[in-house]
Amino acid sequence: MTVGERVRIPAREGRAIEVGAGQAFRVIDVEGQQVADLFAFCAEDVSEYASAEHTRAYVDRLFPRVAEPFVTNRRRPILRFEADESPGVHDMLCAACDPTRFAGLGVEGWHASCQENLEKAMAELGYERVEVPQPINLFMNIPVEADGSLGWKPAPTIAGDAVTMRAELDCYVVVSACPQDIVAINGLDPTPIEIELLG
Ligand SMILES: [Zn+2]
Repeated sequence: MTVGERVRIPAREGRAIEVGAGQAFRVIDVEGQQVADLFAFCAEDVSEYASAEHTRAYVDRLFPRVAEPFVTNRRRPILRFEADESPGVHDMLCAACDPTRFAGLGVEGWHASCQENLEKAMAELGYERVEVPQPINLFMNIPVEADGSLGWKPAPTIAGDAVTMRAELDCYVVVSACPQDIVAINGLDPTPIEIELLG
């Protein structure tokens, strides 16, 4: 991928890109109201990856603010949250959707999922078996209520909203255009995502 190039992730699919330390990329919600599940694995050792639980402890928050890092399961910064051109609503509490989740929601037969999108994208890079970390769920609207309950609300984004991250380590970044169409987080209508590589 070259600087300025955009990768289109069709609705319900995932893609991986290689990002060098110091390089930035934008994740763009093309049509709006669409969650992007983002994963980052260290290129030198994919058993080290961006970890939601380690990041929450590192930044003392549910989700980093702009300028704060996402850290790995070995507590090393791997991505830095560089800019937020969106309503600023993101989730880092919920597991990626997966076949079991859809079966539990009553889906019969196969349904695309962020877990399978991640596994397929990493397999194409030669990694047949990877951990499925809890993702960085960009644009996902899961309000935590005062009584501790979670809401599952549509993403508040509009077309063109985006987040910029800068890699702190050489990494593989995987983004899944979340196929969830049973719970309303994508407005019941999954749409594409784009990744743009910056300098
Ligand atoms: Zn999903």
